Amino acid sequence: MPRVIDCHVHLYPDAVNRDPAEWAAGHGEPHWATLCTRKRKDGRAVQGFPSVEELLAEMDRAGVERAVLLGWYWERAENCAAQNRFFAECVRAHPDRLSAFATVQPAAGAAQAVAEMRRAGAEGLCGLGELSPHAQGYAVAGAEFGAVLAVVEELGWPVNLHVTDARGPHYPGRVETPPGDFVKVARSWPAVRFILAHWGGGAPFATETGGFFGNVYYDTAASPLLYGAGIWREFLKKTGAARVLFGSDYPLNNYPRETETAEMGRLLAEVRGAGLNGEELAALLEGTARDLGMTRG
Ligand SMILES: [Zn+2]
Repeated sequence: MPRVIDCHVHLYPDAVNRDPAEWAAGHGEPHWATLCTRKRKDGRAVQGFPSVEELLAEMDRAGVERAVLLGWYWERAENCAAQNRFFAECVRAHPDRLSAFATVQPAAGAAQAVAEMRRAGAEGLCGLGELSPHAQGYAVAGAEFGAVLAVVEELGWPVNLHVTDARGPHYPGRVETPPGDFVKVARSWPAVRFILAHWGGGAPFATETGGFFGNVYYDTAASPLLYGAGIWREFLKKTGAARVLFGSDYPLNNYPRETETAEMGRLLAEVRGAGLNGEELAALLEGTARDLGMTRG
């Protein structure tokens, strides 16, 4: 049985968790508030705000050995810095269970973003993201992001980018992310491994991408909210298992019709029941994350 690494988990410090909407209003993060603090039509919160102890307890319940904490694509640089310091603390306290990616806001200036990445690297963080050039307001081929990617390449970090599917459901706060943009940036930076979140918004199936895979990987975050359970086989048939990383998007509730709060175990049961062979499961659940250096605590 492969060990399980959940490559797409979000976590916030107590200062955010106490009252997420109030925190966002006081810290200039309206887009995050729209996406993360809203209620569904049935009145359920789209996601929870667990503490690090609650995250570890959920990992134990679900049989997840390691979670990779992803930063948010904050609008303000100081919120990126605060999240990076919080993640450094989490990884220091639980190196056997947690790894973490740094986050930056390149639109606030490349120099501060680069300094922040170097600091986070020295603190033990092992990748960059989840970033969203389209939501944060900088060009994928622009100078600011270029300066950031040059340091990513030097550090050997993978980069996780938020991607939406043009055919996917509309929800408040949704931002369009043309698949061609990701191909452009991946071709320009062939030594950087890009992880396109949420199955890459179906990018491997898009005609604009012209069947380009190269240095591009995909994660499965929020899969049940976006695609049916047939996606696992359909996608792997197109890309092979070695390009896909298991990620839940916990503490987002992936099964709001079935459960009150977010669970990692349900998505694991879905992938294990998806008809993949042992080798495919091993790559998806563990192997590729190790290859990309995401198991550093
Ligand atoms: Zn995410």
